[in-house]
Order: sequence, then structure tokens, then C-alpha cells
Amino acid sequence: MSSTVTAIPARMSAGEWRTRCDLAACYRLVDQFGWSDLTNTRITARVPGPNDHFLINPYGLLFDEVTASSLVKIDAEGNKVEPSDSEVNSGGFAIPSALHMARPEVNCVLHSHTVAGCAVSMQKGGLLPLNQHALQVIGDIAYHDYAGTARDPGERARLLADFGDRHIMVLRNHGLLIVGASVAATFVATYRMERACAMQLAFQQSGAEFNPIDGEVVSSAYNKLRIDVPGGGNDPGRVEWLALTRKLDRIDPSYKA
Ligand SMILES: [Zn+2]
Repeated sequence: MSSTVTAIPARMSAGEWRTRCDLAACYRLVDQFGWSDLTNTRITARVPGPNDHFLINPYGLLFDEVTASSLVKIDAEGNKVEPSDSEVNSGGFAIPSALHMARPEVNCVLHSHTVAGCAVSMQKGGLLPLNQHALQVIGDIAYHDYAGTARDPGERARLLADFGDRHIMVLRNHGLLIVGASVAATFVATYRMERACAMQLAFQQSGAEFNPIDGEVVSSAYNKLRIDVPGGGNDPGRVEWLALTRKLDRIDPSYKA
């Protein structure tokens, strides 16, 4: 169980409360890391259990205002399944819902409009194999052409087809879409992609000559087995996530309210 968990409210499963605490922590961390975009974009998580229920932010709150109990529980169509005074951006849930429903292993979907992610999304070549950080994620990246707001079923189907079984999607000329088996894995994958994008921009702005990486090293990065944690290594739920939530607890533990 994550260290984010506090006392479980009555009439709520331990799994739901744990997911609420993790998702609220994720909203706070996304904001702290400078990845939020006012009230735009969203992060969703699947509620553990037999129902296709999901948690989403109350529309209109800044990400640093989100708490575990304020998250809204919705069905796959974006309808509230419990009484709540909060509104949800059900139109914005169309793509996350399609991903959650088509891929049972996807328990969290994180969409962002970060400066670095958007800037790479505008580049024809996308994320380039420039350094170790890029090579850790490059084999797990899919690309999807911009088609305006993605609310019709045809656009959702095209996006799912482009995504395949990968975990990172560059929405061209728009932003990033990251999925994972847990909130922790999704946040850490986002961190790694963000960092690789920022490094690419910094290098391009320098105008310096590129020091090439051996071709075999690059091609093995493209061809490596896709796993939930790009780059492999430790389970982020056991390592990075615990450290990140300790950091949040030191700064402002109110996300667990
Ligand atoms: Zn967007």
C-alpha cells in the first residue's frame, strides 16, 4: 500500500481511497513540476473493482487544489456515478475513456500541454535519439497527427490504432499523452519523457554540433521490449513514488484530504 493513504472514509473501498490519494498526489506533483496548464488537461485513474468507473478532477480547480475526496467518480461515458456538486469535463474524458476501455492494463492516463512536450510535438522528427534519456523512452513512443478536438468515434479509433501497446504518445502540434499500469508508473514515465524533450530543446537552442551515438546503441533502444516503465529498472511505485509523496507530505499533505 502506498504511503499516500490516510484513513479510509466510510462506504469506500481501500482500493478506491488508495487510488484517490495517488491521483490527487499526481495532480499536485504535475503542478509542482510546472506541467499544469491552468484548468486544462486532465489525469484519470481507474477505480479498482469490477465496474468501469474512473476518477477525474473537478473541472475548474487548479491542479494544486485537487484533493483525494474532491475527485469525481464517473463511468466510461463521463457521467457522474455518485452525487457530486462538481462538474467534470466529460468531453475531455473521451480519449482517456477510450484508452481505459480498450486497454485493461491502462489504469492511469495523463495528458499534458507542457512547453517542452508541445515544442517537441511540433517537430517533424519528434523526439530524437540524442542522449541517454531519449533512448530510455524512444522505443515506447507513438505519434498521432493533430485532428482538432477528438470527440468523434473515428478519431478515437485512429488514436488507439496509432498508440498500439505503447505508453507514450506525442500528439503532434498539441502535447503528450502518457498511460501506465499505475499512477506512479504514469507519472514517472511522464517525468522521463519531459526531461528528454527539455534536453532536446536545450541542445537545439545551443546550435552546437551533435556528438553522434553509435548506431547499434540507437537501434537497440528503438527495438527494445516495451515495458511499463520506459528505461526499466526499479518499480516506480516502490521507489520514486514513495519519495515523491514524502516530498509532498513535507510541503503540503492536504492532497490526502
Ligand atoms: Zn490537450
